[in-house]
Amino acid sequence: MAGEPQADCLFCKIVEGHIPATVVRETETTVAFRDINPQAPTHVLVIPKVHYPDAASLAAAEPAVAADILREAAQVAADEKIDDHGYRIVFNTGSGAGQTVWHAHAHVLGGRGLQWPPG
Ligand code: ADP
Repeated sequence: MAGEPQADCLFCKIVEGHIPATVVRETETTVAFRDINPQAPTHVLVIPKVHYPDAASLAAAEPAVAADILREAAQVAADEKIDDHGYRIVFNTGSGAGQTVWHAHAHVLGGRGLQWPPG
């Protein structure tokens, strides 16, 4: 059922505490934890506790939770003090964009100069 935990989903396992993660923030609807393979001095993932395969399906089904993700991403940036120099919130959506984990997540990246356009 949409939104229900998936047995084979890595990020559902992190939400349930079955796989360890370095959690930096948690709310009723979201968890934020450090990326295991950081691409910048700050690289935190913000995920919904509910399971949707990508940001688009989350936003369509549960727009309030999608808004929670953005609010938490901004709070992570403030906590990490990367907001004064600028940071990036990225939702890789689809395999052609590099998505490899099929549970919606926002990358929060900062602490170094960020080029545009991304690769
Ligand atoms: P990509 O792997 O191309 O970044 P995604 O946008 O789907 O694709 O991002 C998945 C992210 O999850 C990656 O940045 C990866 O390093 C991170 N990741 C994978 N496993 C873990 C884990 N156990 N704990 C924290 N981060 C993880």
